[in-house]
Amino acid sequence: MEHFICVQCGTQFPESTQPPPLCPICEDERQFVHYSGQRWTTLERLAANHHNRFEREAPELLGIGTEPEFAIGQRALLLQSPGGNFLWDCISLLDEKTIAEVNARGGIRAIAISHPHFYSSMVKWADHFDAQIFLHGADRKWVMRKSARIQFWEGTTLPLWDGLILINCGGHFEGGTVLHWPAGANGKGALLTGDIITVVQDRRYVSFMRSYPNLIPLGAAAIHRILETIKPFSFDQIYGGWWKANVSSDAKAAVARSAKRYMRAIYRVEKL
Ligand SMILES: [Zn+2]
Ligand SMILES: [Zn+2]
Repeated sequence: MEHFICVQCGTQFPESTQPPPLCPICEDERQFVHYSGQRWTTLERLAANHHNRFEREAPELLGIGTEPEFAIGQRALLLQSPGGNFLWDCISLLDEKTIAEVNARGGIRAIAISHPHFYSSMVKWADHFDAQIFLHGADRKWVMRKSARIQFWEGTTLPLWDGLILINCGGHFEGGTVLHWPAGANGKGALLTGDIITVVQDRRYVSFMRSYPNLIPLGAAAIHRILETIKPFSFDQIYGGWWKANVSSDAKAAVARSAKRYMRAIYRVEKL
């Protein structure tokens, strides 16, 4: 019996003797099946030729990503907080070196994940570190490996400890979530966003899409909902889902100007 992992999205599945017939997350219009067909691996095989890289993205914020790049290529963020460490987003590979690095920083109290593309091996991580997982209930059907550790939350916000708050923005996924970290950016606040608010190559801007690989945009209502839900929160920085995909200052203004630019592009409205 194995917990098979989808090579294209990195999602770990429940135990089975044969690989699952397909990956629902990759069959969805927001992802894709590789042109060579559906492929599977296991944690053991992945660990044989991949390792994790650890790099500080900010004080108290350790990036953890896999090399060579695997699946969607995101990096998780270990946020060190006085009330307990928080793992924001997740990756498929958990190995001995990673366990040692995380334990040296005080382990993990809880995990939260922005959206199903990054669910990866979350249950494996949670089991190992005896952590709880917070996922928005609207994305419940995308959880492939079930666990009693997963707590589905509903509504717009979920306050945690040390002022950390999960915020449901929707957009890319109905349950799309960002994390507000009030102590981030030297107390000016930071948002950890995955690709719910995605930091683009020009890091003065962000963007918002239903699908990034298939280039499906979001409409005005979805963009307004994102803007409205983050409005009450102060933040000067955004940490996106990939290495160095961060807005390093004036991030709230960056979101506002990005939303205006986006609306102009999709509606060809010059004055917004
Ligand atoms: Zn997949
Ligand atoms: Zn995504």
